[in-house]
Amino acid sequence: MSEIFALDEISVHFSLGGRGLFGGKARTLRAVEKVSLEIADGETLALVGESGSGKSTLGNVVAGLQVPTSGTLRFRGKSMDADIWKAARRDIQMVFQDPFSALDPRMPVSAIIAEPLLIQGTASAAERHARAADLVRQVGLPLDALNRYPHEFSGGQRQRIAIARALAPDPALIVADEPLSALDVSIQSQLLNLMKELQERRKLAYLFISHDLAVVNHLVDRVAVLYLGRLIEVAPRAELFATPSHPYTQALLAAVPRIGRRRARGGSVIKGEMPSPLAPPPGCVFHPRCPKAQAICRTEPPVLEAAPGRPTQRAACHFKD
Ligand code: SF4
Repeated sequence: MSEIFALDEISVHFSLGGRGLFGGKARTLRAVEKVSLEIADGETLALVGESGSGKSTLGNVVAGLQVPTSGTLRFRGKSMDADIWKAARRDIQMVFQDPFSALDPRMPVSAIIAEPLLIQGTASAAERHARAADLVRQVGLPLDALNRYPHEFSGGQRQRIAIARALAPDPALIVADEPLSALDVSIQSQLLNLMKELQERRKLAYLFISHDLAVVNHLVDRVAVLYLGRLIEVAPRAELFATPSHPYTQALLAAVPRIGRRRARGGSVIKGEMPSPLAPPPGCVFHPRCPKAQAICRTEPPVLEAAPGRPTQRAACHFKD
């Protein structure tokens, strides 16, 4: 599989205030810190982690909604510049968690789905209508949905409309940010099946952002685990679920008993809160919560590298399994 999109040492920092009414120094929120990842054609890569791990910020970087503070982006092997972004914007589409706020309530579904084509200016009105009709069918909605408005649909149906809209420019990669988490479990599984079918039919790649490892286990090829904006483990799904290497991944999996796998060695529910990205701990950022932490962990940041005997599974831990 060839690479569609790559991030090389991407950081996203936000400068917060300072010098307000009460003075004080400006502070830096380190949402994403030196993350390197690649996404291949037709692949589903999951970004997982707790709230505040930086996964949505990283998804926004891939979708072109957030400019990184440093690092480089590549699209189909070429470093990003304005021209490459122009091509990438067609090829990379996004599906958001809340389809209701993502869909314009004043527009009929046909116009919502066809809007990306209207913006591109590459299709006539008749072509746009035909494309919208084809796409509602592909996402399992009746043809009369085209003339209705978002409020007339259920949450699951609205997410189908959002997926149809994302498919309109015929993208190669869809960034899906928690696309199922606002839906009932039975609707989630229908949407998961739809996403899988569309992927097989259209050779799509997904960057699937989720906090739900049970859902991730049903859909993805590889999993990237983020903690406090750092990539702390990345591996093929089966390896990561069978033999998680990083203590944080082990703890995340231990907290999801319904997944049929052996319990990770040393896995336990994570204690404490994630530290603030305004003041990340020195050394390994997981050390305040890690049951395996030793003196070196408090001073030396671990490097992301292969787990013992598992070249495709990389973890950032001085004492990885
Ligand atoms: Fe835990 Fe140390 Fe590994 Fe960090 S480097 S995950 S603190 S054992």
